[in-house]
Amino acid sequence: MTIDLEDRFGAHNYHPLPVVLAHGEGAWVTDVEGRRYLDLLSAYSAMNFGHRHPRLIAAAHAQLDRLTLTSRAFHNDRLGRFVADLAALTGMDAVLPMNTGAEAVETGIKAARRWGYTRKGVPDGRARVIVFDGNFHGRTTTIVGFSTDPVARDGFGPFAPGFDVVPYGDAQALEAAITPDTVAVLAEPVQGEAGVLIPPPGWLARVRELCDEHRMLLIADEIQSGLGRTGHTFACEREGVRPDVYLLGKALGGGVVPLSAIAADREVMDVFTPGRHGSTFGGNPLAAAVGAEVVAMLATGEWQDRARRLGEHLAAALAGLDPAKIKEIRVCGLWAGVELSPDAPPARVVCERMAAAGVLCKETHETTVRIAPPLVIESAELDHAVGVLAAAL
Ligand SMILES: *Cc1c(COP(=O)(O)O)cnc(C)c1O
Repeated sequence: MTIDLEDRFGAHNYHPLPVVLAHGEGAWVTDVEGRRYLDLLSAYSAMNFGHRHPRLIAAAHAQLDRLTLTSRAFHNDRLGRFVADLAALTGMDAVLPMNTGAEAVETGIKAARRWGYTRKGVPDGRARVIVFDGNFHGRTTTIVGFSTDPVARDGFGPFAPGFDVVPYGDAQALEAAITPDTVAVLAEPVQGEAGVLIPPPGWLARVRELCDEHRMLLIADEIQSGLGRTGHTFACEREGVRPDVYLLGKALGGGVVPLSAIAADREVMDVFTPGRHGSTFGGNPLAAAVGAEVVAMLATGEWQDRARRLGEHLAAALAGLDPAKIKEIRVCGLWAGVELSPDAPPARVVCERMAAAGVLCKETHETTVRIAPPLVIESAELDHAVGVLAAAL
């Protein structure tokens, strides 16, 4: 019924697995026929805390009964707490809230360009940003313009100029692409959509050094990698790197509301004076109330520890898969890309078989199964899921 209606009246910009979900709790979701599935995708890491975490649902309910939206034409009594706590979590001076991840990316690009003109002295209209092969930063026209995925990009031009694409994980290529007009490097510390691609050790630290030497901002897109997923609050911590700008989204809204943000020090954030940037829904009290609860949950470090412990368990379980079916397994915290060999079925078929057996995964590109369970999952449930993956292979 729903599928028919979606098919007839909805845009066809997704290709979902044929499962119609009606209910969720923790790591489990239930379909309209009452079948239960283990969720190994977590809405692309937006559900890091699991479905309907009691603390997040309570925060949302309490706020729904008080005030939901004011716009930024007035103050609301929730925004201050949220930005103060997120600034503390990121170790940055200030936070600018938006709604979706793509908006956070756009906000980061705007901040870097204006910083380049007003602080670095780049001639007006000339600012450049370095990005990476295989990147995924969202779906706006500016962002898809520097995507290297033809499916995301083709047919949507003309695109905004000012971006240079270099190979991911290659510091020399990055260095060679730097110009006097380069204001920023925009990087995912681990590339999620590309299939959980982990750059070589030392690369991100080298990117940080190059940014310092050439006075460029390091903008870390932690929309998917941040907020506990990798066993750290931010994946940049794996290399002890502090970026100039954090881009956050997905799990920041606790899987309850769309909520994104950029966090930066005053030198960068203060390029935004009144009227230079904004969003009708950005910083609304409902999102701020949920976001503040997310930040409070992450402040203790328990979720990060849990992701690290479960990630080790997951890595050990995945190591038992039939080597003939596997090209490479990449694990980073509770996040894995299982790249299949030509002897394995296509990743889509593997995901369809797993769904039929009660485990929900999503392929990324044709050959990789991405595993990103909610951090509330239990180790026995991970074992079960890997067993289902083994059978599907
Ligand atoms: C999902 C994602 C985005 C875009 O977020 P939306 O909320 O879908 O706009 C940007 N960057 C990364 C790394 C992401 O994973």
